[in-house]
Amino acid sequence: MSASTVTISRNDLESCWKPFTSNKQFKSKPRMYVAAKGMHYLTDDNRKIIDGSAGMWCVNAGHCHDKIVTAVQEQVARMDYSTAFQAGHPAEFEVAAKLALMAPGDLDHVVFANSGSEAVDTALKIAIAYHRLRGDGTRTRLIGRERGYHGVGFGGTSVGGMVNNRKFYGPLLNGVDHLPHTHDPDNNRFSRGQPATGAHLAEALEGLVALHDASTIAAVIVEPMAGSTGVLVPPVGYLERLREICTKHGILLIFDEVITAFGRIGYPFVSERLGIVPDMITMAKGLTNATVPMSGVMVRSGIYETFIEAAAENSVDLFHGYTYSGHPLATAAAKATLEVYQEEGLFERARDLGPYWEDAVHSLSDARHVVDIRSWGLVSAFELESIEGKPTARAFDVFMRCWDRGLTFRTTGDTVAWSPPLIVEKSHIDEMVGILRDVLSETP
Ligand code: PLP
Repeated sequence: MSASTVTISRNDLESCWKPFTSNKQFKSKPRMYVAAKGMHYLTDDNRKIIDGSAGMWCVNAGHCHDKIVTAVQEQVARMDYSTAFQAGHPAEFEVAAKLALMAPGDLDHVVFANSGSEAVDTALKIAIAYHRLRGDGTRTRLIGRERGYHGVGFGGTSVGGMVNNRKFYGPLLNGVDHLPHTHDPDNNRFSRGQPATGAHLAEALEGLVALHDASTIAAVIVEPMAGSTGVLVPPVGYLERLREICTKHGILLIFDEVITAFGRIGYPFVSERLGIVPDMITMAKGLTNATVPMSGVMVRSGIYETFIEAAAENSVDLFHGYTYSGHPLATAAAKATLEVYQEEGLFERARDLGPYWEDAVHSLSDARHVVDIRSWGLVSAFELESIEGKPTARAFDVFMRCWDRGLTFRTTGDTVAWSPPLIVEKSHIDEMVGILRDVLSETP
């Protein structure tokens, strides 16, 4: 890795409006990365920073993996783009076939998109259209969950349950309701893996069915593990119960696996890990190791066949898609990434490292300000006691102090969330834990 020599003036900083960022704060102390390799970023002042969150839960094979970089470089020189509708190129079919083999049950078909948000909106639209094609046109209602995050499209924002992401944007979609979240610190504080209690919270879906009637409900969408809201691990039996209730009432179940797919919990999908077959899975991020934006929706055969059979000859079956669906650079990156996961056994590696990771992160349970630690697979969250009247301030302070010492990660509210690349070594884990412990002890 080598540092770039480009210097950025104050004016250049003002032109770019950074999303989900305090622009005022950032522009007063910019944090600039100029290169990345493996577990590290390099800053513009030539400091190596450990990437404790795999970018944003996406660089699962580590930064600038040689095989993935080469695949993208070769592809861009061979064919930069090919039209997404009414024509194709081989790699999109190869990647789709590989994903069909990796996904559980008969989730054998994939619609490609470019971001998690697009994948979510695609899945929600497919759910509503599926019911309509089967003569169930009253099934339009969508059920999300409090504290859920499903991206920033109007669909994903509507089913999402993070207040600040919703409240500025008006009435959002009609006919949306929410399940209660599963966070129960009184019973599950400092739990390792799936909390033992909380499966009963799935029964709230029966309550929503009683309220709205099943004949009005198209789909339920949940993250199997809620990440962006601070790592809420599903209680044992909770997701299984949601599956049962959805099946009983003819409601489609969508698992949003944008962050949990591709090894985060040691398996290609959490659904695979738990032996649950949802009706659709949304994925993104780790699909291409974040090298090129790409997402997808895995769809069960019955749903796909319904669309295909309903279409008249030579007519479009799915009136939905994006200019860049199945983009050649993205599929080249995805193909190489999926091969890397397999060749390097990264999902198994994540599984094997799990116990070490868990012991290491829970060793901070006595650290200053820590009021809860949650962990599952190669994920952990450290919840810090909030400063009265200043929610988020303490976690941000900790984030800045860690960055100064060479460690970065995501924060949400007053929670520090870790999800390193799956290539993380035990020595990196020890270093991360050491930095966080030191910083917590010195943070007021
Ligand atoms: N769904 C989940 C569960 C996510 O965590 C995210 C992003 O973090 C999204 C959807 C949105 O993905 P994107 O930012 O690629 O639109």
